[in-house]
This record gives sequence, C-alpha cells and structure tokens, in this order.
Amino acid sequence: MPTAAAKAASEKPKKLTPAMRQHAAFKEQHPGCVLFFRMGDFYECFHEDAEIVSRELGLAKVERSPGVPMAGVPQQKLDDYLRRAVAAGLRVAVCEQIQDPAEAKGVVARAVTQVATPGTLTGEGLLADEELGALAAVAALPDTGLVPVALVEASTGRFVVIDITSDRLGDELSRRGVGELIYPEATDGETPAWVSRLISRSDLAATPRASWHFRYAEALEAATNQFGVRSLAGFGLDDADPAVPAVGAIVRYLRETQGADARPELGGTGSAADDGPLDLPNVTLAHLRPPVREDPAGAMAIDASTLRSLEIERTIRGSEIEGSVLGVFLRTGSGCRTAMGKRTLRDWLVRPLASHTEIESRHRAVAALLEDRRASSEIATALAGVGDLPRMGARVALGRASPRDVVGLGRGVLAAEAVLAASTDTPALSALHTKLKAAYAEANQAARAVTVSCVNDPPPHLRDGGLVREGVDAELDEARSLSREAGTWLAEYQAKLADEFDLPNLKVGFNRVFGYYIELPAGQASRAPDSFVRKQTLKNAERYITPDLKGYEDRVLGAEQRALERERAIFNDLCAGLRSVLPSVTALADALGELDALLCFARKAADRRWVRPEITEEPTLVIREGRHPVLDELLEGEFVPNGCELGEPDQPAKLALITGPNMAGKSTYIRQVALISLLAHAGSFVPAEVARLGLIDRLFARVGADDALHQGQSTFMVEMTETANILNNATGRSLVILDEIGRGTSTLDGLSLAWAIAEDLSDRGTRTLFATHYHELTTLAEEREGRVRNLHVEVREWKPEGSDSRPGQAEIVFLHRILPGRAEASYGVHVARLAGVPERVSRRAADVLSTLAVQHGPSPAAPKKTENTSQLGLFTEYVPHPALDRLREVKLEELSPLAAFDLLRELKDRATGAG
Ligand code: ADP
Repeated sequence: MPTAAAKAASEKPKKLTPAMRQHAAFKEQHPGCVLFFRMGDFYECFHEDAEIVSRELGLAKVERSPGVPMAGVPQQKLDDYLRRAVAAGLRVAVCEQIQDPAEAKGVVARAVTQVATPGTLTGEGLLADEELGALAAVAALPDTGLVPVALVEASTGRFVVIDITSDRLGDELSRRGVGELIYPEATDGETPAWVSRLISRSDLAATPRASWHFRYAEALEAATNQFGVRSLAGFGLDDADPAVPAVGAIVRYLRETQGADARPELGGTGSAADDGPLDLPNVTLAHLRPPVREDPAGAMAIDASTLRSLEIERTIRGSEIEGSVLGVFLRTGSGCRTAMGKRTLRDWLVRPLASHTEIESRHRAVAALLEDRRASSEIATALAGVGDLPRMGARVALGRASPRDVVGLGRGVLAAEAVLAASTDTPALSALHTKLKAAYAEANQAARAVTVSCVNDPPPHLRDGGLVREGVDAELDEARSLSREAGTWLAEYQAKLADEFDLPNLKVGFNRVFGYYIELPAGQASRAPDSFVRKQTLKNAERYITPDLKGYEDRVLGAEQRALERERAIFNDLCAGLRSVLPSVTALADALGELDALLCFARKAADRRWVRPEITEEPTLVIREGRHPVLDELLEGEFVPNGCELGEPDQPAKLALITGPNMAGKSTYIRQVALISLLAHAGSFVPAEVARLGLIDRLFARVGADDALHQGQSTFMVEMTETANILNNATGRSLVILDEIGRGTSTLDGLSLAWAIAEDLSDRGTRTLFATHYHELTTLAEEREGRVRNLHVEVREWKPEGSDSRPGQAEIVFLHRILPGRAEASYGVHVARLAGVPERVSRRAADVLSTLAVQHGPSPAAPKKTENTSQLGLFTEYVPHPALDRLREVKLEELSPLAAFDLLRELKDRATGAG
C-alpha cells in the first residue's frame, strides 16, 4: 500500500497550490540548499527540508497536510538560524515575499534574496568581529607552477588575487580565513582529488560550481560587468591572465548568493504588470572592491600547523581566542577599539611581514604613537565609537541595511575627523594620514547627510518608525503631528458633541474592526441627532459615525502609514548616497583599522614594557630577558625571563639543543623565542629587554602533535610529515623550533631521527631551537663546536633528610631559567612523582633506573664523526644490527613522509627478524 507521502507525491502535479508551485520552482533553482520559504511571519521548510532542519536545528516539525512535514523559523530569528544552519554544514536559500500581500492579485510574488553558505555570510552578528568567513575560488590545480586563487570577504568586499604554489595552497587559505572554496564541477560529478585533499586537512567547505562559470569568456564577462569596465587590465589582470576564471567565477557566485540576480516567481496572472508592485531589494554589490593582486612573498611563510602550535589565533585546547597571542591583544580595556582593528591585527599576526623596510615602518609608527601619548589617547577616543564600517557598508550595498547600519556608517565616517586632527604632526603616520584624509574628503558629505537627517539612537527596524529627525521633512512632520494630535482632537470633538446635543454620556472611541465611532448608552439612543449615522448595535449601547469623524479617521490612519513611507523614502536616499561613496568608506575603514592595530601594539608596549626590536640582514637571533607574551601576563610577575643568542660573532652556533626534565620550561622557552620573532615581524614591539633579529623568511614550529586535528594518522606519522616539510623547506634565513622530535616511536628510532634532523639543520645554518629529552644528542655540541650549542633548564635538586642516594629519590625544584650547557639528568621519575604516580611505583622505578644506569654506564660516549666511523657511531657502541646498517644509508632529506613510514616498517621488520 502506498504511503501517504508517496500518494501525495503522485498526485502532486495537479494538486499543488500556487504557493507550493513557487516552492517547487525555487527548490529546483537551488539544488543542494535547504529552502526557507517566507509565509507571513515565518520561514517554512517543507518535505525533506523540514526533516533536515528539525534534525540539525531542533525545529519542531508538524504536518502541514497529510504526508507533508513542515518546520518553521520565526521571521525575527532568521539570522540566528542562518548562523546555526551554516555552522551545521547546511546551505540555506532564503525566499522572501517581495510584494505586499494586500496588493497581490493571486499568490504573493517571491524571490530567493540570499543563499547563506560558509563563505558568503554578511548578516549582522553572523560573524565575530575578527572572523573573516572568506570565500576562495580555484579553477584547477596545475601539476607545476603557480595556482591562481581569487579570495573575497563577502562581508567587507575585500577582493584579492594571489598566485601560490600548490603545496602552500591549504596553508594560505587557512591563514586568510577562508571558510568555503568553489571549484569547477568535474564531468563525472566526483570531487576532484585535490579538493578532497584540501578539505580533509581543514574544516573548509567545498562547493562545486558549473564548469562554464570558470570558462575564460564567461568569467571575463561576469567580472567586467560587475565592475563596469571593458577589461580587467586596470586591475593588473591582463586579458590572458590565468586568474580570470577564478575571478569571474567568484563574482558570479557572490551575485547569486547575495540575490543580485534574483528572479522573482510571480503569483496570480504571472505577469508583473497585473500583479502589483514588486519590492525586490536593490542589490548592487557596490561594496565589492576590484581585485588586487597580492604577492604572497610579501608575507613570512608560516604553515597552518605552525600557527596552530604557536597558538596565534586560537588555543590548541578548546580552540579559544582567550589564551592565544591574538587574545593578549584583544583583551577588553587595552585591546582594539574597532572591528576593523581586530581583523587587521589578526591578519598581521598570521601573515607577518617579510620586507625589512615595511617592518621598520610599522615599528616607527608604533614608536611614534608610544611617544605622543596625547595624540594616541585622542585617536583612541575618536575610534571608540566607530562601528564596523565595511560590514555596515556591505549591508547597504546588499539592500539589507538596518537604520542602525546607516546611522553607524554616518557617525563612523565623521569620527575620522577627530582622528585626522589628532594625527597631523606625526611623520611616521603621514602615509596613513594622507590615505585617511583623501577617503574622508570623498565620504564625509554622504555621511553628514545621514547624521543631519537621522536621530543618534535609531530604532532597530525601519517599520518601527522614528529614524528621521523632526524638521527634516515637512510632509513627514505633518503626518507625525497628525497622529500625535489624534488624542486631543478626539477629546475636543467629544466635548463639543456632548455639549451641543446635551448628551453628557456620549463617548468617542476606536476599535480595529470598525474604526472610530461615537457611542451612546442604549437608553439615550433615541436622542441621537440626525447627523449621526448608525454603525453598530451593542447590547447596552449604540455606535454612530459622522462625516467629520470619518474624514478624521481617513487622515489619521493614513498619517502613520504616510510617515513610515516618507521615512522609507528618506532612508533609501541616504542609502543611495552612501552606496555611491562605498569605495571611500572602505578605504577609510582600512586606514582606521590599521591605526587601531598600531595603537593596540603601542598600548601593549606601554603597559607591559615591550621594546622595539631591531631587524638586521645577518641571520642572528639575540634576545635578552625575553618573556612569553601569553604566560607572562597569566603568571603576573612570576614568569622567569630568558634570553637567546644564536649566530653572533662570539656565539656563532645557529642550533641550540635544550635539555632538561619535563615541566622545566623547555617548550615554553622555544615557543617564546618563536613568538618574539613573529611579533617583531608583524610590526609589534616585543616582550624582552633587547631583541635583535635577522630577517626571517619562514617560521616553522613542530611542537607537540594534536591528534584530534589529524584523525586517521598516527601521531608519529604527523610528526614526520611536519618534520619532512621543515627539512624540505627551511633555508638559511628560516627559524625552526622543534620539540621532542622522535617521541612517537621506539627510543632508538627516535634518537636516530632526532640526531639526523639536528645535523641536517645545523649543516644548513638554519636558526634552530631543539628541545629534547635525548641527552645523547648533547654530544653533538662537542662534535660540532661553534655550530651547535647546549642549553639546559636549571633545576635544583633537594634531598630531604634521610633520603637515600638512588636516582629519583631527591625532590626537584623547577627554576625555569635557561643556562648554557647540558642537563645532568632527565628527572623523569621525579616528575612522575610530582604528577601523583604512587610512591610504591616511583620507588620501584628508581630501583630499576639505578640497575639500568649501572648496566649502560653513566652516559653513552660521544659519537665521533671520523673517517671510518659513520655519523651514527653512537649506535655501533650500543648493538650492531642490520637495521642500523640500513639506517646509515638513509638520506633523510630525500625521504617523503610515506617513504619514511615504509622505512620504519622495514626497520621494524628487520629489528624483529620478520620479513
Ligand atoms: P617542558 O616543555 O620542559 O615540559 P613547559 O614549557 O611545558 O615544560 O613548562 C611547564 C610549565 O612550567 C608551564 O606550564 C609554565 O607554567 C611553567 N613555566 C615554563 N617556563 C616558565 C618561566 N620561564 N617562568 C615561569 N614559569 C614557567
């Protein structure tokens, strides 16, 4: 027996109501989307969409008719549900009523006015201030050469084109805050392998698009139409530029998702002329800036895993801003004042500069702001009230602005005047000042029109009324006064009638259905004058209308409507004015964001006594009394500062091996050095007393593997993949920090790998900090004097009265101080005891340790690198074995991660005698 749903479906073609016919048409136009279909005060979802939203968003499901499930979102909660839907991985097409239902002849006309996806969100509150939710387009991944990528932030209109090598594509998308990638659909409908690879390593959403969107001619047409130009040459993209397909495809996708090309489905007669006026929002995408080509080499190369391990944007645990480096700057009170500032700061931290002159110019600006406290505080005050200009501007361009957006834009642009006044005399800020001034000159008139016309504290919705000031528009004022004076007129009219006809119980009232009326108690009805026309009879009263009252009613009821219409017209004019200056508004916002971020650096330097770093051309690394930017604040004065010296005339070693027990502070120390270097390149001052740093081209951190992010790969595999990346890409100008390499495998494997890796980096002169618990490694410093140095973390051993002399029996105190030389012992048993391992186990471990120590001797001899002993001489003094012979032949730098894994398997087989 067919189910109700199947039966309904089979009968559908004839039985669909006009509204459901519209619904079906929109569903077909937007495959892969959940459709939010506006019906009155709700967005309704039907059929499988209802199942999806009830499952994913917890919306209540009802039966609209037998076999037709339905679930709805209240109209005022739309943005909230869009955010949740996108976070749950859904794409949502929002279908609005674009006609006054009272004016529609048949079913009300509708259109899909936006499609919400991870890379195209623009609504208020859908993205955090510092979140970008950017969109990227890639047409194909060539085997060799550069991949052209188009990147757009839909919420601000920033549009960038970069050319990047394919191996760095994923990292670049991640640090540019890309949430969604569009690519041409393959003919077989399968996801191309390169796309699968990209999305497997991040939480990127990938959206296939018709391949013709990426065809050269069609793409060029979409882009030139959008920007009203005949060619893209003016934007640095010549006619044959390989980036054109991505650029055009991204423009087309943006237009589609923002409803710029919305096609209405009409009801009734199906003809617009007969169907009453349509109210499709005016979507121009005027906020979308022309594409700007950026050179990725302008920024220091940092891969996603390094950014993650250094906790630049988010903490590893909990993925929170608080506790990250960005969090240190965004703290309330001393942090950025504007949303633009937050985004700029985030961008500077994840993409530090690579150019010496640019870095110094930022340092100069920070120094100038630090020096001129008065100017800084004036600028800060002026910035404090400036809202998110680019995002408000975007909503104006998309026809989705609220009164608050418009007023916020007007007031924000005008705030630049005070900023300009405060920053005049500062040469280090003169370039910014010039940019601000030009943008302000262009945008201020439209902004002033807003502040002149609108109240300072506007209502959330236009339909609430009250946006436009008194005295701005005569017609509006008249309409408003009419509705305001209603009460007085009615009271006077009532008194007049009562007096004239001697009817003291006469009342004038209003009700929604019958409008205004004169009411007499039933007993007095016979005394009603002829001019009263009977309207309604109640149990105890009669109600009448008079021509005077009717005339008044028409005027008053019309007045409120007229006032709202006038306000809408004025609002639309103001929006049009703002739309025409949006490029200047965004330029202004850029300059304000930059200034805010610089101010944030300056404030941090003042509050925490950070110093201006010196950047040099020689690959040195000198830090005195450096502190970890996050821990230093967290530990409130308890943090022990530490220095670092590499590549100096009297300390020429480029590689430092740091030994010391767990919990001593090794990892904190090496991260701190990396963070100080990164901050300096981002243009910030740094937490130290002195910092002199040779320009860094790439920063690599291999610090602890976070397995959760690499499902399906073993910890060791992840470690080796990341290490391979470092060995393949680090140069003499790079900075590498490595923590406990080789931990995920057997001791000998791990030690051998750590050994070979350290040697390789040292050979290349890469500045490297290598924290390790393999004490054997410290002999490298003797073998490579002047090229490798040992550092250790100071630990004080303290023996309580009566304790014996076996290892592991003393108490230890961590001093967190980095000193030259190697650590004496690894104190593993001590740390285990500190961690709460039961006394009986730690005692037994101490016993075992002393036995082993006797068997193996105090410490293995230094592996001398002589002509007839190999680099791995250390191990020949352990045990001869075929696996070791095989290891000797290995050229690590030529090993791919997979080959490394195969090799390990082979080594293991040899070691265990299998195979
Ligand atoms: P390791 O890498 O040697 O195991 P960590 O660097 O993880 O040690 O440090 C362990 C803890 O010691 C940190 O969580 C921190 O609280 C503290 N610590 C590390 N370095 C310092 C320091 N320089 N000053 C004060 N406390 C520190």
